[in-house]
Amino acid sequence: MRTYIFGPVPSRRLGISLGVDLTPTKTCSFDCLYCQLSKTRFHTSLRSQFCDPADVLKELKAVLSEIARPDWITISGTGEPTLHSDLGLILAEIKKLESAPACVITNSSLMYLPEVRQELMLADRLLPTISTVNERSFRRIHRPTEDLRLEAILEGLQLFSRDYTGAIEVEIFVCPGINDTPEEISGLRDYLRSLPNLESVYLNTAVRSALEGEIATADQGLLNSFRAALNLSVPVTTAFEHSFIPPRGSNWNRPAVSSDILKLLLRHPCSEKQLEQVLSSAPDKIIELLGELAAQGKIKQASNGDWVLTD
Ligand code: SF4
Repeated sequence: MRTYIFGPVPSRRLGISLGVDLTPTKTCSFDCLYCQLSKTRFHTSLRSQFCDPADVLKELKAVLSEIARPDWITISGTGEPTLHSDLGLILAEIKKLESAPACVITNSSLMYLPEVRQELMLADRLLPTISTVNERSFRRIHRPTEDLRLEAILEGLQLFSRDYTGAIEVEIFVCPGINDTPEEISGLRDYLRSLPNLESVYLNTAVRSALEGEIATADQGLLNSFRAALNLSVPVTTAFEHSFIPPRGSNWNRPAVSSDILKLLLRHPCSEKQLEQVLSSAPDKIIELLGELAAQGKIKQASNGDWVLTD
């Protein structure tokens, strides 16, 4: 039974991505309006050794021996990975494996800490979220812990980007009615232009089944006008322009079992097609496993057709 490694998952931006989860379920410094996982259970900005790095690496090596080389090993998961106090050590060990480049997906909340910036230097790619430069909107969208201040976070990412040699792709989560005003977008534009090593920007929106009803989805028209108003020289892509289906299967060397599906859905709602690809399984097999899990009441189909865990 796996505890820390999940997937490979079909990532819209990373292709076949093998996930590393360093925090207990839904331990996060934010409680975002749009979070697809659930309400944050452990709301904290304090770093801690949530799990033993040796256990994580042992499990990672075992999974890597079962699958074809993934495109990325991605530290993300069911909470905020920079909360793990051994992130730097884990990243260094992952790089020694030379199995795939290492990526970190972060909500940026701890970028104000010099030690976090130092540890993240080891990643080959960083996907930080910055959805606004306005403190009020920040608190409304992300519902951070009391102590976090947006100004310090923005400054931290600026400092980081000056020295970082990897690729930075900033995610903006577009929340209609909150961060899509001309003032919000021009603030983001000025900030993003101040990041020296920015490679690209990704406009995300609530396309997956999340806490449905809490936040509206930005349609492609709104994302297009947001992109035009940003007027950046780096590539800006939107959620709808990335395929949900990975370009190739992940070549597992054993048949998929129901626990593979449960582990995947814990972090990532999936369609049947996605499950076929990432688990390298025939459609009939996936339908059979999904049917069993649904009959047991463990999973259900969301309104957009994705499969999700039953709460
Ligand atoms: S930062 Fe990520 S995990 Fe944390 S609440 Fe926001 S979306 Fe969910």
